[in-house]
Amino acid sequence: MSRTMTAPHAALTFIRWIDSWAGIDSMPHEGPLRIDWLRATPFILVHASCLLVFWVGWSPTALWMALGLYLFRMFAITGFYHRYFSHRSFKTSRAFQFVMAVLGATTVQRGPIWWASHHRHHHRVSDQPDDPHSPTQHGFLWSHMGWFLSRTSFAPRFHLVKDLERYPELRFLDRFDTLIPVLGGAFVYAVGAVLERFAPGLGTSGGQLLVWSIVSTIVVSHASFTINSLAHLFGRRRYPTRDTSRNSLLLALLTFGEGWHNNHHHYPAATRQSHRWWEIDVTWYLLTVLSWARLIWDLKPVPDYVLASAMPSAEAA
Ligand SMILES: [Zn+2]
Ligand SMILES: [Zn+2]
Repeated sequence: MSRTMTAPHAALTFIRWIDSWAGIDSMPHEGPLRIDWLRATPFILVHASCLLVFWVGWSPTALWMALGLYLFRMFAITGFYHRYFSHRSFKTSRAFQFVMAVLGATTVQRGPIWWASHHRHHHRVSDQPDDPHSPTQHGFLWSHMGWFLSRTSFAPRFHLVKDLERYPELRFLDRFDTLIPVLGGAFVYAVGAVLERFAPGLGTSGGQLLVWSIVSTIVVSHASFTINSLAHLFGRRRYPTRDTSRNSLLLALLTFGEGWHNNHHHYPAATRQSHRWWEIDVTWYLLTVLSWARLIWDLKPVPDYVLASAMPSAEAA
């Protein structure tokens, strides 16, 4: 625990587990890169609660639900928290924007305003000292899961997300960012309890579905975190960007296309992150389907001059 922590800060930390914007103006973006262990306690406890699988057991229902939650929510992060809220690479209605923001919020990666603001900052200062999650500047662990447990990254960088801040419903999701995960957990528990009562043959229960939904959340989290950490360390570079971003098929499969990270840093405005037909980008495929259904529109393509600007050595490889 930080020795410099004052009593008011400790009290504010507890209040912020409910109202994350309490005293937000006093939260600095500069300062020592240090984990706020009091703030990190729920993060640690949620990880530890995965061990409850040994107590609640498993069932095909629980595993299928965990897989389904991974698929839907990974897409909510990649397609919407990232490619929509952070980069505005397509357009959608205010209602669908809210639906996907709620789905993204269930992953406990804070609200879309916080997420997009830090991500936009990452693109501005990628792999420079001011980058909050650069593995080459601050080490692998910090880039993977240290930076967001620090006081310096707690507050949204509001000046970078004026376009999102004007929606009261998004401000609400950000300010009360534990509400959606808690409601989601209660819903999953209720579904499990109903199945236990009316379909006992499935061998599931409220506790079992709740624990496996937490497992799913942890897997979504660490898969997402790999783009901040591993995607700046391992893989190939097609474009000579000023950062250390790389392209990795393995990470692209895990994160539905986000592993083409060097492509993305080279041209962040595009909806798709694959720049070749063989680069699997599930997020882009799903967004294309949503555009056919007219739920989203104005998807931004990758211009030909961008595709042609690969390093000759990368194309030969
Ligand atoms: Zn990056
Ligand atoms: Zn990005």
